Parts: sequence; C-alpha cells; structure tokens
Amino acid sequence: MKTQSTQKKNDDSRRFGDVYNPATGKVINRVPFASKAEVNKAVEKAKKAFEGWSEVPPMRRARIMFRFLELLNKNADELARIVSTEHGKVMVDAQGEVQRGIEIIEFATGIPSFLKGEYSDSVGTGVDSYSTRQPLGVVAGITPFNFPAMVPMWMFPVAITCGNTFILKPSERDPSASLFMAELMKEAGLPDGVLNIVNGDKEAVDAILTHPDIQAVSFVGSTPIAEYIYKTGTDNGKRVQALGGAKNHMIIMPDADIAQASDALMGAAFGSAGERCMAISVAVAVGDKVADALVANLTPRIKALKIGPCTDKQSDMGPLITKQHRDKVRGYIDQGVKEGAKLVVDGRHLSVKGHEEGYFLGGCLFDQVTSGMTIYKEEIFGPVLSLVRAKSYAEAVKLINDHEYGNGTAIFTNDGGAARNFARDIKVGMVGINVPLPVPVAFHSFGGWKRSLFGDVHMHGQEGVRFYTRLKTITARWPQGPAEGANYHFPQNK
Ligand code: NAD
Repeated sequence: MKTQSTQKKNDDSRRFGDVYNPATGKVINRVPFASKAEVNKAVEKAKKAFEGWSEVPPMRRARIMFRFLELLNKNADELARIVSTEHGKVMVDAQGEVQRGIEIIEFATGIPSFLKGEYSDSVGTGVDSYSTRQPLGVVAGITPFNFPAMVPMWMFPVAITCGNTFILKPSERDPSASLFMAELMKEAGLPDGVLNIVNGDKEAVDAILTHPDIQAVSFVGSTPIAEYIYKTGTDNGKRVQALGGAKNHMIIMPDADIAQASDALMGAAFGSAGERCMAISVAVAVGDKVADALVANLTPRIKALKIGPCTDKQSDMGPLITKQHRDKVRGYIDQGVKEGAKLVVDGRHLSVKGHEEGYFLGGCLFDQVTSGMTIYKEEIFGPVLSLVRAKSYAEAVKLINDHEYGNGTAIFTNDGGAARNFARDIKVGMVGINVPLPVPVAFHSFGGWKRSLFGDVHMHGQEGVRFYTRLKTITARWPQGPAEGANYHFPQNK
C-alpha cells in the first residue's frame, strides 16, 4: 500500500498509535503522533509556501484540482479500499463516500468564479468601489474517523483553491486515506508545503489551536471536542467552524408509505453500522398504528441484516471502529433496557464466524423510547434505532426542536402541507422530505444547528469559500485636477 512510506515521514515522533482492522481486531499500521515541535515545523513550511501559493492565479490553482480530480477518479477504488480496511465500512459504502468527496473536488475546480469580486462604478464623483476575496493564510482541518476520505475533502480542496495553505490532522484511527490523497495532490502538481498532513492526537490538536500563524480551523467530530475546539480556537484569535455530533429524527406521518419509510430507515439507521453523523437514530411514528406497522416491518429485516467484514461482498454493514466504541454502544443498549425501553431486536450477542475478534455488533431496535431516556438524549453512534411514539405531528416536531442536537432530520409523508410546515418550522440544519439522509451536494453547504455546529459558517459550497477567504473593499479615485484642500466632514455622497 502506497501509504506506508509516507507514514514514515514523521518517524522521529516519540509516540505512536496503533491502527486496527476493526473486522479482525489486528493491528495493521502504526501512526506517528506529532509533537508540538513537529506541528510548528509543518506550520512554518505552510507559512513559507503561502507566499508563493497565494500569488498563483486562481485558474492555475484550479487546474491542479482538475489533475487531482483525474487522479482521484483513476484511484477511487484504491482509496475506497484503504477507507474500508481501516474504518470497516463495506466497499460500496466506502465507494459512495469517495464519490461524494470527488464531487467536492468538482466544485473546487469552479472556485475561481466564486472569488470574483463586485464592482460599482461612480460611488461618488470620480470614485469607484470594488471588493475582492483574499485567502487567509495557513489554515487547518481536524477530522473524525467516520468519513476518512470525504470529510478531509470538505476542507482542504476548498481552502487550497482559495489560495490558502493547509495543515490536515486526520483521525488517528484511520489516517491512511489522508496520506494517500496527499500523495495524489503531489502527483497533481501541488507545490511542497501547500498541503501538510500532521498525524496525532490531542497534543497535535492543541498545538494547532494555539499556533499564532494559523488563521482558521475547520473541525468535524463529537460535540464535546467541537465545543473545546471552538472555544480554544476563538480564544486564540482564529476563525473556527466546528461541526459536532447528532441525534437525527425521522418523522413517519400516518399517510406515509410504510414500505418506503421502512426501506429508508434500514439504510439510514444501519448503513455504515450507524456511524454516520447523518444516520437516523430516532424514528418518530405519529400514531400507534404507524408505530406497530414499522415494528412489524423492521423487525425481521434487522434480524436478517448481513453483518461481516468489508471483504465480504454480501455484508450490509461492517464492524464498529474500535473495541472501546463497540463496548460503549453495548453499554447504551444495556442502559436502554434498564431505563424501560422495549428491546425488540437485540444485536448485543452477535459473533461473526471467522472474525470473532472483530468489533461487530448486531442491529438493534428499541420501541417505547421516551425523551427522558439516555438512549434518546445521547448520540450512540452505532446500529441502534429508537422508536418514539408521538400522538400528533405537533408533538413530533416539538421533540425534535427541544433536542440539543440539530444536524439532520427527515419527514416521510404524502401531505405537501405537512412537509412544507416541517421544512419551515424545524430547528435543524439539514432537512429531508421523503429523503432520509439529506446530505447537501457539493455546491450547497453542509452544517447543523444548535449543538451540532459551533461557529456560523457551514462547510463547502459558497459558505466554504466564505470561510476560507476574507472580504476586502477598495474605494478608488484618480484625481484629475489640482488639489482641492482638506475636508473635515465625514465622506458623503452629496
Ligand atoms: P472525535 O471528536 O473523538 O475526534 C475528532 C477529531 O478530534 C480527531 O481528529 C481526534 O484526534 C481529535 N480529538 C479527539 N479527542 C480530542 C481531545 N480531547 N482534544 C483534542 N482533539 C481531540 O470524533 P470521532 O469519534 O472521530 O468521530 C465521530 C463523531 O464525529 C460523532 O460524534 C459524529 O457525529 C461526529 N461527526 C460529525 C459530523 C458533522 O458533520 N456534524 C460529521 C462526521 C462525524
């Protein structure tokens, strides 16, 4: 695998982490953890590279993205294989992730048109005004384990095409996808120092957050860390966008097609073993009739889920990322039972033949979940679907609006009026109408509300360009006569 050699670059690190194949529980790689001094070195390199890179005309920067796009398309299956091996998600899922990342690169190739300024002729007599967006300098990205290819691609291609240089700190659980992409960027012609991968843990993150030469930080991960990143980063004078955890609800209205809603729930709750920030983890059935129909439809399907390693083409879902995480998810299931939810499908005791040491967990379905329960309040991030029974649409909407998270949500209905009200009334950043995973495409922007996002600006699309640039407005006059004398009143258009 190409990534091994790149990984040795930081071998002067004193600390290393193990990278596992979660399907076997075996260590397959070691990742060096960068010290503060190594982060400083990378920032120094990026700062130096910024001098030249920010002067490269945007069209030429975009051309490098075009070449990266070609290389990614050529190497998409290899990248997906790297993602599958370290993350554990099945190959078709990893291929989907890579494809959604590729779409961001397609968007990035068009960024020069977003850098266009505005021009106003004659804002005053003989005075014109124009605006321009300029890159910030060295910016950084810190990414989670669950989308090791796509989430870094939300960040570095946009930042770099805008003229910044980039420090990427990928998840220490599955860092190889980032290293592989950095090699492809180099092959595409990106100058040295423009994209720098720094592996590591909290030490590297803290070095990024406090470094005076880093202008902005993009983060995606869990809410407690997102909040910490936002506070520490902004305290250190940085622009920060920190995307956090989620608890995504799907309302199923009495008029919804139960078969379609069940199909949607299966994919959205159990795809990627529920380790998606847009996974549906709560189904809110409006009325007992809908709830009973969903339980009847989902139960045999969850029991029949094919759970196995990513190397088995038959697998619907793979293992969880680590043993600790699998045990944490199991703990939530125990807690749900203890607090009185009805465990209709119990996946706790699954063992996959030939992969007994893998971090597998079967799909679980809870019925009779209420808003006071731990499994309702907290993000589980595993293959566990909770069913809440609501008496009315209004009660279902209130549940969602009262929840601390506001990343994604969906409604399944054939009632256009209800769908319209839902889209307007719901306090969530990304909304699906008969679409269970409303992940915005590359030229729109991704981000949640409430404690799913700290900061103001969403990722990629126009919001991404705004995050990685700052606006400058120039007012220009070319005097054509003799000096007119000093003016002590405020400039005005009279
Ligand atoms: P995580 O918060 O544990 O880690 C994310 C990053 O933060 C990693 O690079 C990690 O090294 C670093 N980190 C971890 N602990 C740290 C600490 N104490 N100090 C400084 N840095 C630290 O998240 P994860 O487990 O890798 O990913 C899963 C989480 O990410 C879930 O909560 C999921 O909802 C969330 N997520 C959110 C989105 C979104 O767009 N909102 C997308 C994907 C994942």
